[in-house]
Amino acid sequence: MGIVSKLLGLVFAASGFIILWWGMGTNDALSFIWSFIGMFVMAMGFALLTSGREQKEAKPPPPTVTEIKCNSCDFKEIRDFQKGDYVLKAVETTCPKCQSAMTIEGVYIVREETDDKDRI
Ligand SMILES: [Zn+2]
Repeated sequence: MGIVSKLLGLVFAASGFIILWWGMGTNDALSFIWSFIGMFVMAMGFALLTSGREQKEAKPPPPTVTEIKCNSCDFKEIRDFQKGDYVLKAVETTCPKCQSAMTIEGVYIVREETDDKDRI
């Protein structure tokens, strides 16, 4: 899909340039219209080329979560991953059940599939 739109963009840009160049070379009343059409086709070609590039860059990173476990009881909490999180790092939040210190037990990338079921 990306290659097709890129090729199409190149074809549009090239043919637009040819129409523009040819329109400028002619001296009749239509030369202005041909130049306009050439510029329009060229712009369409470049739009196709750049839109293909943007689609690649717009891919969002997979969501990541951090699993925090209480040091004393078996309370577990999953929150959004924050910069600087790593496994076995002591976090500032305390356990809501027993007020003990909590440690990061794991950092996971959330997948669309049902992989999470095996973990729990
Ligand atoms: Zn606890």
